[in-house]
Amino acid sequence: MELAKKITILDKIYAVYDDFVAKLDLACKENCAYCCTTNVILTTLEGYKIISRRASNQKSDLIQKVKLNLTQKRFQPKITTNHLATLCAQGIDPPDETIESEEKKCSLLADSLCSIYKLRPFGCRCLVSRYNCGEKGYAEIDDFVISVNTVILQTIEHVDINGLTGNLMDVLNVMSSEDNQTAYKNNALNCQTVGLISNHPLKVLMIPPEHRTRMEPILQALRQIKI
Ligand code: SF4
Ligand code: SF4
Repeated sequence: MELAKKITILDKIYAVYDDFVAKLDLACKENCAYCCTTNVILTTLEGYKIISRRASNQKSDLIQKVKLNLTQKRFQPKITTNHLATLCAQGIDPPDETIESEEKKCSLLADSLCSIYKLRPFGCRCLVSRYNCGEKGYAEIDDFVISVNTVILQTIEHVDINGLTGNLMDVLNVMSSEDNQTAYKNNALNCQTVGLISNHPLKVLMIPPEHRTRMEPILQALRQIKI
């Protein structure tokens, strides 16, 4: 599938999620940034979209910030969501992941505002909370919202099946290179050496039995995505 079509599908998946969260009672606001850390994970499709949709002057600022912050401690996943789902379905233990406990603020924040807010990846969009995290000290997320988040993550990974997954800084760094963008468009991006991991197909949805009926309208909306 052409990259432009995949980006259209990605935007429609985000729209399905926006409709879902619009009905929730959340404390999240654009200038609320307690959840903005260096541990954001995304696909190359989302990274390509962020880089390609920035105006050229903003693009160089973004790339400069990314390059300057590549030494920051950050979470680099060993396994994607779909790979985890497949291993769980097969009864195989996934590898241990080490989440960076000493969380640092995301380098794309500017005065508590996300500098790529409209383009932010799903890993940022899905961080929602009933109560203000600054006041509570943590995010309070309903179990069903976590299930919806997982389904959307699995779907985005499947759309980016020939792509990769990784930390925000690593993916944007890779996508800042025109050679890598060309390789990505040709389904030939091979950047595992810089901390990215291969995406996997969606074989089994991770939905707990108690959420299956409630999930149906979300699945229906995702199935109806056409381009
Ligand atoms: S998840 Fe928490 S910190 Fe992030 S926007 Fe929502 S309330 Fe604010
Ligand atoms: S990209 Fe934006 S929304 Fe996501 S963590 Fe960074 S500042 Fe926050």
